[in-house]
Amino acid sequence: MGEMEDLCVSECTRCPALVDSRSQIVNGTGPEDADILFVGEGPGAQEDSQGEPFVGRSGSVLDDQLRIVGLDRDTVRITNCVRCRPPENRDPTADELENCRGYLEQEIELLDPDVIVTLGKVPTEHLLDRDVAVTKEAGSVEDVRINGTPRRLLICVHPAATLYDRSQEETFASALERAAELAGVDGSENASGQTRLDGF
Ligand code: SF4
Repeated sequence: MGEMEDLCVSECTRCPALVDSRSQIVNGTGPEDADILFVGEGPGAQEDSQGEPFVGRSGSVLDDQLRIVGLDRDTVRITNCVRCRPPENRDPTADELENCRGYLEQEIELLDPDVIVTLGKVPTEHLLDRDVAVTKEAGSVEDVRINGTPRRLLICVHPAATLYDRSQEETFASALERAAELAGVDGSENASGQTRLDGF
């Protein structure tokens, strides 16, 4: 047990609306030393029910594409900007994003990934702190300071975008290929368990 025991939140009531709408806090999953960190917006219904990010249809798209580029879910870390499901799947508010930001920053700091891949508009704009046309900018790599540390961020569309717009499949696939390349990952790394994230 060391500093990596701080990757998960077990109790938090900072966002009253989300405390009411969640059935559980959904923490990140994947190895604590993963080279690639995927960041989504927040849990949906399936994630809230199963307690894991990116399950259901979006999760299947992500899993399939990870396999194609030589990775799989057990070799990467996947987390969200907010860890509790917003009511009726609305976007998290600015306050909710800010409330949860410290947990995300702590996860990034402890993981120290080679590349952070943002899945969709909300996490991309949240971490880059600017407006982003995600479908146009997907595949771009930017350097950004997160909690004072320079990080490499790769913009990617949300996996669900490929379900509604087939033209996004290639964009999504290329971005994941680029992520694997940036991390120099060969897909052979093994998973380890997840641990606790307390206050920050
Ligand atoms: S979204 Fe984050 S900050 Fe808000 S209640 Fe859930 S864990 Fe706490």
